[in-house]
Amino acid sequence: NDLLITQMLLFFMLLSGCLLIGLYRTPERTLKDMIADGLLKKEFIPFYQPIIDTKSGRMTCCEVLIRWQRPNGELISPNQFIPSAEHNGQIKLLTVYLLEMVIDHFQDELIADSEFYASINVTPQQLEDDEFLNTTINLLTERKIPAHRLAFEVTERIPFKNLSKARSIIQQLTDFGISIKLDDAGTGYGGFSYLQNLPIDTLKIDKMFIDTIGTNDVKSNILDSIILFAKHAGLKVIAEGVETQDQVEYLHQRDIHLMQGFHFAKPMPFKEFREYLQQDLRK
Ligand code: C2E
Ligand code: CA
Ligand code: CA
Ligand code: CA
Repeated sequence: NDLLITQMLLFFMLLSGCLLIGLYRTPERTLKDMIADGLLKKEFIPFYQPIIDTKSGRMTCCEVLIRWQRPNGELISPNQFIPSAEHNGQIKLLTVYLLEMVIDHFQDELIADSEFYASINVTPQQLEDDEFLNTTINLLTERKIPAHRLAFEVTERIPFKNLSKARSIIQQLTDFGISIKLDDAGTGYGGFSYLQNLPIDTLKIDKMFIDTIGTNDVKSNILDSIILFAKHAGLKVIAEGVETQDQVEYLHQRDIHLMQGFHFAKPMPFKEFREYLQQDLRK
């Protein structure tokens, strides 16, 4: 009798264990399958958000931000699938796919004749990958896009695994004419050491720090430190997530003129971005 109870107990423990593992694993696997399916069906699209030089009031650059457009028209934000894609390796496919779409958009005459450049988000691991380097160079060459029309921004949230490899790839990209920016500066791993060791020319200050302007949040001290550091290191600075005139003025007082945020423009689909550019060219 005891043996039977023990056996039954073991059986139920095993069963619930399997169920738990199943529950835990299914969402990830399903999301991975859904992303693969979305790639096949071309459901991923670039949105473009202008970055303004407040000295001239004109757009100097735009950030490419991926959106997942579901068949019912719903737009899924990158925060809901990019972390998973970064984990399971799909980020490589997504980035190259996005790069191709951006290059397609750059065939548009209005875009081709303009001066601004597009900045695409990449993970540190992509900047350690020869294949990604070669794909990028081949795509730009084949489609006759001048390299200076493209930049990559690499987040500080995820560490580089092989810093010397990254240095070599980043050097090759910058030699080719593609500039590299450090994204989410101040939020993650060894940004300052990266900046000293890698040919990075621009620092993007995360919205988290811009939000502290005009508050007594201790992080506002970090904001000032980042700005000082950038000045000493001779780096360009882009402030991200600028939403108010007060923030604009605070940044102007610190000699920062490159800004991105809802105060100027939201990320938008290509058609709308093209109209934005038409307006911008009249300024
Ligand atoms: P990020 O690189 O820091 O991009 C800036 C985010 O801030 C974007 O969110 C943008 O829409 C948002 N933003 C810009 N200005 C404002 C503002 O004034 N107010 C507010 N509330 N938000 C503002 P989004 O598009 O949802 O992207 C979220 C993150 O997803 C990005 O953060 C980036 O880390 C990642 N991501 C987006 N597209 C890609 C991609 O193609 N590849 C990779 N690897 N990551 C991507
Ligand atoms: Ca095409
Ligand atoms: Ca970014
Ligand atoms: Ca950010």
